[in-house]
Amino acid sequence: MSEATDRLAKVRKDIADAAIAAGRDPASVTLVAVSKTHDAERVRELLVAGQRVFGENRVQEAESKFPALKAEYTDLELHLIGPLQTNKARDAVAMFDVIQSVDRERLAATLAKEMERAGRRPDCFIQVNTGEEAQKAGILPKDVDAFVASCRDAHKLPIVGLMCIPPVDEEPALHFALLAKMAARNGLAKVSMGMSADYPTAVRLGATHVRVGTALFGSRGTQGGGP
Ligand SMILES: *Cc1c(COP(=O)(O)O)cnc(C)c1O
Repeated sequence: MSEATDRLAKVRKDIADAAIAAGRDPASVTLVAVSKTHDAERVRELLVAGQRVFGENRVQEAESKFPALKAEYTDLELHLIGPLQTNKARDAVAMFDVIQSVDRERLAATLAKEMERAGRRPDCFIQVNTGEEAQKAGILPKDVDAFVASCRDAHKLPIVGLMCIPPVDEEPALHFALLAKMAARNGLAKVSMGMSADYPTAVRLGATHVRVGTALFGSRGTQGGGP
């Protein structure tokens, strides 16, 4: 077995254990393998090991790696997990199957227009800034209900869930619980939360999507690409 296969097996087992401990079906949790900064060959190792769902945080990087892999593995599902500029919305709609980082009115309007134009409707998550950090993207908790309503009713976007990236120096469980509560209150079935350091906690608190990079691919070094 390759190292990639071993790492994937371990992460999947952690997810299954956490799900079972919480009385959840392990199949209700989707592992999004975050491949940013790692090249197409590393992605291919995980594809060979059976992984099909991947996350990238930059449109351009995804465009440089994934078209060939998507042609080869037609069931590959690609998620955008990083900030999206409105001038990249068209490319994002063309490239991604899921957009997890809808975080402002203007982006919602632009995505709606580009989806209409392309006849392609990637599922969307709304990113919530649960820690209310000034430097971080996302809708503030107090504005979530109104923004969900606007995305659904005014823009007719296919909103399926909420996503968050908790502050690095805080207990993530509090943020995960808050996000799950906001999703439930808005009738949203999907919750994207949990990264390499805390995905079992996120699963116990209801994550339907965990975004795991380092635990699957190893360290990204110092070349940026961080959240
Ligand atoms: C990079 C990134 C991840 C994965 O982080 P790891 O700690 O390497 O698992 C998850 N979510 C987002 C939004 C990211 O940018």
